[in-house]
Amino acid sequence: MRPSLSLLLATGLLLAAAPGQAQVRKKAKTKASTAAPAAAPQAAAAPVSDSVALRKIFDEALLRGESYDNLRYLTGNIGARLSGSPQAQMAVEWGKATMEKAKFDRVYLQEVMVPHWVRGSKERGEIVGNKDKGIKVPVCALGGSVGTGGKLKAGVVEVHSFDELKNLPDAAVKGKFVFFNRPFNDALIEPGAAYGGAVEQRALGAAEAAKRGAVAALVRSMTSARDDNPHTGTMRPATIPGAALSTNAADQLSQLLKANPDLQFELELECVTLPDEKSYNVVGEIRGSKYPNEIITVGGHLDSWDLAQGAHDDGTGCVQSMEALRLLRATGFRPERTLRAVLFMNEENGARGGTEYARLAAENKETHVAAIESDGGGFTPRGFTLEADAATLAKVAKWAPLFRPYHADEITAGHGGTDIGPLKEAVHPKALIGYKCDSQRYFDIHHTAADTFDKVNRRELELGGASMAALIYLLSKYGL
Ligand SMILES: [Zn+2]
Repeated sequence: MRPSLSLLLATGLLLAAAPGQAQVRKKAKTKASTAAPAAAPQAAAAPVSDSVALRKIFDEALLRGESYDNLRYLTGNIGARLSGSPQAQMAVEWGKATMEKAKFDRVYLQEVMVPHWVRGSKERGEIVGNKDKGIKVPVCALGGSVGTGGKLKAGVVEVHSFDELKNLPDAAVKGKFVFFNRPFNDALIEPGAAYGGAVEQRALGAAEAAKRGAVAALVRSMTSARDDNPHTGTMRPATIPGAALSTNAADQLSQLLKANPDLQFELELECVTLPDEKSYNVVGEIRGSKYPNEIITVGGHLDSWDLAQGAHDDGTGCVQSMEALRLLRATGFRPERTLRAVLFMNEENGARGGTEYARLAAENKETHVAAIESDGGGFTPRGFTLEADAATLAKVAKWAPLFRPYHADEITAGHGGTDIGPLKEAVHPKALIGYKCDSQRYFDIHHTAADTFDKVNRRELELGGASMAALIYLLSKYGL
């Protein structure tokens, strides 16, 4: 997933003239007239026929959407699908079959070698105080960690930043667990920003602790939730293990350390990195009628962490991307530009799929107008965040009134996506666009055993796919 930020609001075009919508339409008219001065030039740029087309897309999604059932299959029948696993390969075959069933013009795979890290069966953490009986706490290895080679028992030193670690004398660190316990900044409105402010502990903690002679890193889970779910996630390769503690366990350990700074921790991890495996991005295309060489990519990542079903991260982005193209086709839209749904492999621990997609795009001298990624969960749509120059951002932001009836009209500068990121250097698309949804609950489940299908709401998911389809409709019709 990605950290991101944003804002913006725009005033109102009329709602589309869908059957049975008279009442709603009337309301929208009233609203538009109260905000008249700002709305007038925008209305000229976005004719009513676009609002009708968008209404059709949302009707199709809400009444006959297929993404929820697709997600049910992916999460229920395949489940966790970390890069290099047999389940990841099953997901590739499922993605290809699903796109073929949707009758896209062309469906194909892009081969890519991916890391293959395996958690192993045993993961155990225990706080060992002066009393005979230890306290077992929920832990999980961070992705890419080495194993402990049996039981690893040592004292613990708690820090909240790399500066704090740097200022500790060698004797305070050497031979110990370094316990990184800086929580999310809960005052931040965007949880992605809080994640961005804390995640260096997970990513670099073990590598930094290793430099000081520590035996392993223990990292507070990346969440504002207070519960017993440890959150995994990738870490930079290090010579010592890295493990996440649930937030409850982190709070408990911190408290016990205050009472007894000499307590010990015992950790046992069996994880191991195996040789790279062959895997694939899955690509489906609808060919453009007028400018077939101008491409609009929409995607999510097919791999997930191994602890859960990878429902919100990022099964939702995958099914929404495929659904976006299906919705456009089902509503009779013939795209002027070529549309590509891409299920990227290996976002979680290497981003090799996204890198390979961009490399091939450059090698084939492709022109990419824009790329959209959904990797922030399948929650209620809010809008889009753009990596683009000011003129391009202004052009897309003028479409905001069209998204207003669906509460998806926040179009602002912000993060595009990890998988589409490499396109920036490779083929210079005019915009990298992140699908933005309500993210307040995302980090409750992110990278944990709780990221399951039951956490996804059908309407929220379908509304998201429709929002992405609507943006693709406008990008295809008007270009950038
Ligand atoms: Zn993700």
